[in-house]
Amino acid sequence: MKHIIYVVTFLFVCLCTTSFSQKITYNYLVDSSNIDTKKVMTLFENYIHSKPDSLYDNPYWNNEEKKQYKNFDFLARGEFYPSLYMGFPIHVLSIKSNHGLYEIKAQFSNCENGTPYILCIANFYAKKENEEYRLYNALPINRQQWLNIKVGWVNYYYPPYHKFDTLKAQKMNLFIIETCKNLGVEPTSFTYYMSNDFDEIQRLRGFDYWIGMGGEIKPTGRGGNNEVFCSGMGENYFHEPYHVLIGPHYLNQHWWTSEGMATYLGGSRGYSLEWHLKRMNTYLKSNPNINFNNMLSLRTMDEYSDYRYVIGGLIAKRIYEKGGWNLIKEFMNTGNSDEDYYKAIEKYLGVKRADLNEYIRKQIEIEANK
Ligand SMILES: [Zn+2]
Repeated sequence: MKHIIYVVTFLFVCLCTTSFSQKITYNYLVDSSNIDTKKVMTLFENYIHSKPDSLYDNPYWNNEEKKQYKNFDFLARGEFYPSLYMGFPIHVLSIKSNHGLYEIKAQFSNCENGTPYILCIANFYAKKENEEYRLYNALPINRQQWLNIKVGWVNYYYPPYHKFDTLKAQKMNLFIIETCKNLGVEPTSFTYYMSNDFDEIQRLRGFDYWIGMGGEIKPTGRGGNNEVFCSGMGENYFHEPYHVLIGPHYLNQHWWTSEGMATYLGGSRGYSLEWHLKRMNTYLKSNPNINFNNMLSLRTMDEYSDYRYVIGGLIAKRIYEKGGWNLIKEFMNTGNSDEDYYKAIEKYLGVKRADLNEYIRKQIEIEANK
């Protein structure tokens, strides 16, 4: 039996649609001769070859989601840059049907010098809309297995094993109301998905595997488009909601300002700014060569602390302490470029770029010893 599968697999692997730019191949499919499976295969191929990385009224996606969302293909953007459809050859691993609902499991990968490089394994759904098969997102289908409750501004989704904490949800709402008031923004409702492990969130979205998966399980969050995905932090992780609520209203700011404010108010990777500053202080003592005069070129300290969050948070904290919300609002409107950021620090904190290394190291020391 194994041999037959190998042969069939080989045949299917050879059935490539090489005339198109994004190559699609198939693993052994149990019912590939079935008329409906064939239709689903054609639908998927048509979609992949229809420039799914550009936004237009794509005929292969269902109308219901297209009407509701501008970025109707939830996997297209956000996870990979510039897009999931950046040209990786696609290998369809399986097509499973459940009473008319088809799940297409597709691997996006290439092979260099005999070593496979797998970007992700993503699930697409297909079902009939007005007698024709159309593609659907995995998220709204998968979340039917999760529990859902709306508390104030937040529409929570969580796995059935989780015991919902209403007090934490109320704290989240207080944070939303206070932060929006302080920054002169109208609150908006958003959806908040939470789980213990980020892999559960990714599976919910449709990813069985993605490049970067693995490592120690630690608090993780992502946000955008009125949605927050986070793991390990429960009902009141403020960092990502901060971005979702405030980000669209302050477009003329450096990304360190945006990350710094989110970390100052909501922590990063599940830990407070104070926690990160204490760790960074210890780290800097044994790394005297790190120079903050060039701080915007610094990236990660380790898997928990990034300079843009921690130093960005420290700068935001100092500006708040100097002039409250009014000065913060001004600071959040000082331009996107690196030069703008250094200039704003000089303007609002009186620290020249050439003195930043001394200043930042001293301020971290002060914060760590509080
Ligand atoms: Zn952030």
